Amino acid sequence: MTKTYKNLINGKWIDAKSGKTFENRNPADWDDILSTFPLSDKTDVDEAVRSARAAFEKWRLVPAPSRGNILRKVGDMMSARKEDLARTMTKEMGKVLLETRGDVQEGIDTAYYAAAEGRRLFGHTVPSELPNKFNMALRMPIGVAGIITPWNFPMAIPTWKIFPALLCGNTVVFKPASDTPETATRLVEILIEAGVPDGVINIVHGGGSAVGTAIVEHPEVDLISFTGSSSVGKKISEAAAKTLKRVSLELGGKNAQIVMDDAKLDLALEGVLWGAFGTTGQRCTATSRLIVHEKVYDKFLSMLAESTKKLRLGDGLNETTDVGPLVNEGQVRTVDQYVKIGIAEGEKILVGGKRAGGDGLAKGWFYEPTILGDVRPQMRVAVEEIFGPVLSVIKVKSIEEAITVANATRYGLSSAVYTQDINNAYQAIRDIKAGITYINAPTIGAEAHMPFGGVKETGNGHREGGWTVYEFFSEWKTVYVDYSGRLQRAQIDT
Ligand code: NAP
Ligand code: MG
Repeated sequence: MTKTYKNLINGKWIDAKSGKTFENRNPADWDDILSTFPLSDKTDVDEAVRSARAAFEKWRLVPAPSRGNILRKVGDMMSARKEDLARTMTKEMGKVLLETRGDVQEGIDTAYYAAAEGRRLFGHTVPSELPNKFNMALRMPIGVAGIITPWNFPMAIPTWKIFPALLCGNTVVFKPASDTPETATRLVEILIEAGVPDGVINIVHGGGSAVGTAIVEHPEVDLISFTGSSSVGKKISEAAAKTLKRVSLELGGKNAQIVMDDAKLDLALEGVLWGAFGTTGQRCTATSRLIVHEKVYDKFLSMLAESTKKLRLGDGLNETTDVGPLVNEGQVRTVDQYVKIGIAEGEKILVGGKRAGGDGLAKGWFYEPTILGDVRPQMRVAVEEIFGPVLSVIKVKSIEEAITVANATRYGLSSAVYTQDINNAYQAIRDIKAGITYINAPTIGAEAHMPFGGVKETGNGHREGGWTVYEFFSEWKTVYVDYSGRLQRAQIDT
């Protein structure tokens, strides 16, 4: 049965002003229409921003520990509903239950971290250069946060942004990806049930160019936190500059796993299978390149090809499925185009390379896990983000060459090195240009309490996760209290 959902503005669930809607479909079965959502536009955004702006004046005065207590309750409710949330997510975007449960768990962890941060939000006290004077710097809320998220982590990514935003005392206008509006709505329902006041969280569904742009351009929105593609990130950065908004961008990746000749090959194999084909390759941290030392190249590739062929494609709700569908038809087209580009560039298809058919796959956006061998480092499939189950394999002669190849893209999110040699490991930690480096672990697997983000065109210097995201969602207020009873002039009377 198709369910109908609405926007939440100022505590009320309402339709888009236009009355228009869009469909949410199951990527494992495109005839399965799960739900419909309001197709909103600028007028809906204006109302949501008005509501968030008004609510800010009260929410900023709620003590941070009390805001944290609400978020602890949110974590408890997410735990209680974990299975239902995971199933909702698998149905609307396809990844397997094991992973959607993990996605929800990351949100739960983020909620508890935020709850605890409510009793910290540390500032600084610093000695004054003048007598009888007290200096401190405090973290202040900023205002209305516009939050725009992608479909590949439909729960975790919104929680990474919304929980710290709220904890710091900001109010939120949230636009989730059009492919995952239902998971986003479930999250907002929980926030409301847990006690987030009217207007503090607002959700506006609709397309990126209508709703997303309206949020970014709105003069009453103070900051934007965006995760998505580098191309949209650049547009957002330009548009936000007109009103001098604070902007955090978490963008694309072209992550490499390096396998040295001294690596434990079985471990490296498990790592690359999980890194490349988990979430059907649709992770910003997915292993998209495998850089292998020439001494183990042939052996490792034959191990990899054999294991990849055994991966079971299917509906993510089925517990025996390893790899679910891609999220939509556009993703299938992009992946297929890249495989064709690879062929034209002279790459060898070792495994996969086409749409998957067969039992239970006919009506879904399934693509075979694909390995391209003997890829040269400058080829398009070696440097451009594909965002699908396609792994490009490159042969190298040394750790130095491996690092040079790993660095030869415009992205810099995650990286992994498999080696038993501590010298290789530390050289890689120092020289790989990426926000994240794993040693003897795959490129995916961020923990909620650690900084997350990348360098180069993966972002604009901010970090989500851990303590670092609280820097983004709060602003420093510097305070001087002079209790000398006379005029004291800094730099002059010292
Ligand atoms: P996307 O096309 O950039 O969309 C991301 C979000 O932005 C969606 O909510 C989208 O709305 C919205 N949007 C689209 N155009 C917009 C515009 N002009 N102004 C404002 N908002 C706009 O990315 P995606 O395809 O959903 O996600 C895949 C990309 O995200 C990949 O590049 C991946 O690497 C990246 N990603 C990065 C991270 C990270 O932390 N670094 C994590 C996950 C994903 P609609 O859905 O309505 O189009
Ligand atoms: Mg869908």
